[in-house]
Amino acid sequence: MRDKIKCHVDFVCIEPDCKAPVAFNLMDAMEKDSQILCPSCHRPYEFEQGLKDKLGKLLKLILAVREAESILGDCNVSVSVPGGSVKIPYPLLLTRLNTLISLDMGGKKVEFHFRIEPTSPDTFK
Ligand SMILES: [Zn+2]
Repeated sequence: MRDKIKCHVDFVCIEPDCKAPVAFNLMDAMEKDSQILCPSCHRPYEFEQGLKDKLGKLLKLILAVREAESILGDCNVSVSVPGGSVKIPYPLLLTRLNTLISLDMGGKKVEFHFRIEPTSPDTFK
């Protein structure tokens, strides 16, 4: 089941003159010491262990939530809005909204955006 999930991560290249989006598959990056290159300026990114650990922890959290999907189906997050409240189904919140984590990379704050591909296209119908 685990290998069916793809976790796409992207961030903005930290080269001031570049700022191109750099994307990679977190599953691959966690397994081997793959180097990631900016597709535009070819700046190499090698993630240090501390950074990998944090990305890995977020991935675990996301996967744990996915595994709990069957019991989360009836859970809602209630958001207060003027005039009442809106209920957002938990699975929708966790899968359709972007998850992002801000981490320090080479002294700069970089936002990593996570996008998980659903295990099945029918999951949230
Ligand atoms: Zn670049």
